[in-house]
Amino acid sequence: NTAIVWFRRDLRLADHPALSAAAKAHEQLIPLYIHAPHEDGQWSAGAASRWWLHHSLSRLDAQLREHGNALHLAQGDSLQVLRELIERTGATAVYWSRQYEPAAIARDSAIKAALREQGVEVHSFNASLWCEPWQIETRQQGPYRVFTPFWRTLRPQLATPNPLPVPSSLRGIELDGSIPLDALALLPRIPWDGGLHEAWQPGEQGAQEWLDIFMDDAVSDYARARDLPARHGTSRLSPHLHFGELSPRQIQRQLSDRAADTDARRRPDIEPFLRELGWREFANHLLYHFPRTPTQNFNEQFDTFPWARKSSKAIERWQQGRTGIPLVDAGMRELWHTGWMHNRVRMIVASFLCKNLRQHWQHGAQWFWDTLVDADLANNTLGWQWVAGSGADAAPYFRVFNPVTQARKFDPDGIYLRRWLPELAGASVELLHETWRDAALLKRSGYPAPMVELGESRDGALAAYRAMRSR
Ligand code: FAD
Repeated sequence: NTAIVWFRRDLRLADHPALSAAAKAHEQLIPLYIHAPHEDGQWSAGAASRWWLHHSLSRLDAQLREHGNALHLAQGDSLQVLRELIERTGATAVYWSRQYEPAAIARDSAIKAALREQGVEVHSFNASLWCEPWQIETRQQGPYRVFTPFWRTLRPQLATPNPLPVPSSLRGIELDGSIPLDALALLPRIPWDGGLHEAWQPGEQGAQEWLDIFMDDAVSDYARARDLPARHGTSRLSPHLHFGELSPRQIQRQLSDRAADTDARRRPDIEPFLRELGWREFANHLLYHFPRTPTQNFNEQFDTFPWARKSSKAIERWQQGRTGIPLVDAGMRELWHTGWMHNRVRMIVASFLCKNLRQHWQHGAQWFWDTLVDADLANNTLGWQWVAGSGADAAPYFRVFNPVTQARKFDPDGIYLRRWLPELAGASVELLHETWRDAALLKRSGYPAPMVELGESRDGALAAYRAMRSR
């Protein structure tokens, strides 16, 4: 008897509940990936994510081949692909890992109902979160809107998990008709992806290696170093987590093992890092309960916020890292080059766009969606609404990040700034933080003067906020 394991954003073999359950109950497995971007609604994968997906699928296929199987690739309407495959192979069951984006939930529910109606078994599993978004409730049995109480409820429920091993047998069947990976056209036609290749190794093995490096080098210093963009002080696991090449249960297990180290000097404080993963759970909780928030303000009062008129020119300067504010530009160039940006810098560039330029947060969210290798509907929505002030548990509006103060505090020697703004590499630290003080430097380097004055634009943002409140 044969089962289909429908891979989606769970591109790994270890700690994969759907794969393990299918391998236990069936003699033969068909690992399947269906390319169906139209089923993601307006949130089909952006360019950087597609790059990642290509390489991750290629790695998954190679791993499956090592186990005597292979990834069957198809494209088109998912239900139709599944039905055709069931008909051709006589498969009696389909297994998958759940996703929590509104479009995916709607698609999966429809497919589940249709397949069951034709007598096919369907089994879905949680493979990407510690806790299903509906399992955590307030005392009034509603969803949480604020992170701290959410985390206070979730944290005590996290028992040390035992991640599942790769199933011992992944036997497949002779099956033709898989389309070549290149036919999905996921890679860019103009080769702009050199920086991504340098920075990342998509796939389960790359994820595990990254995790090991983080555990060895950085986790003990995480609470302090996580705010320093020049350092590798964070895990950089976000794209691996997004594509499900690693599960939060696997991370937690490894953290718990380290925390149990008998040598006190090697025993890290794992709480700050666990808490950050808690934000990821919270983001999924919010997206599940408030599915309209990727395009609508969580706080409806912001529907009347007086944004500035959309300025494509201003947005473009921001996208290209040519605003004239060094920390903002360094972040935007890091993003363009590597498909990733440090969390603190994400907050600063987002604040600059939404507050100093007063452009709608959705313009920024869209750009991140296209350029981040970790673009994730839950996390991106939470991040942008948090910064814009319109979110569930948002930053108080008056906390407008000052990129100069932030750079002085978190990149005091200008290492991050010099790395991403090579034209300013020769400038003194003082000038690096405030380039506009030296007209000769700007002229020599070709680095632009600031597109807005920070103090004035901050005042403008606060006035806009007051106007909204008084409506
Ligand atoms: P670490 O500090 O090592 O954290 C470990 C993991 O915890 C991360 O990989 C991530 O999965 C999770 N995490 C950490 N911080 C957050 C957070 N604030 N919210 C939710 N989860 C978090 N993260 C994405 O994964 N995808 C996005 O599209 C995304 N967009 C963002 C947009 C804005 C405007 C902001 C301010 C933040 C955004 N984040 C997003 C959250 C955060 O910046 C990244 O998760 C983090 O920088 C990834 O780096 P890391 O893996 O080294 O994080």
